[in-house]
Amino acid sequence: MATFGKKSLEKLATCHEDLQKIMNEVIKEYNFTILYGYRTSEEQYKLYKQGRMLVDGKWKKVGRTVTDKDGHTNKSKHNSLPSTAIDIAPYPVDWDNYKAFTELAKIVKRIANSLGIAIKWGGDWKSRVDMPHFELIL
Ligand SMILES: [Zn+2]
Repeated sequence: MATFGKKSLEKLATCHEDLQKIMNEVIKEYNFTILYGYRTSEEQYKLYKQGRMLVDGKWKKVGRTVTDKDGHTNKSKHNSLPSTAIDIAPYPVDWDNYKAFTELAKIVKRIANSLGIAIKWGGDWKSRVDMPHFELIL
């Protein structure tokens, strides 16, 4: 049976108790790592800047962007404490392995459902597919 490493546990501790309940069950079935729970506004802004450049005072997309939330005027669900969103990835992490992300998501959804906790998966989104992302529907 897989167990969380120290870093994953620290990140999980910043998440809403319902997310903790789900993830503590999922790890018994599938080995995965926790990439993010809570993020400070500064950490969020750092992610927002990835793939963007400031041109004449406006952000311009110049590459692959990670998020549309800048953490200041536009907050992410990761920016509240406890975090109502979590980013996870199958272990070992392989960003191109969509099959593994989908498999993991199926388990997360099944367990959330069995616990009576409503969640959304970023992999189901149409505009910005976000495979590692899950958030509580509160
Ligand atoms: Zn996320």
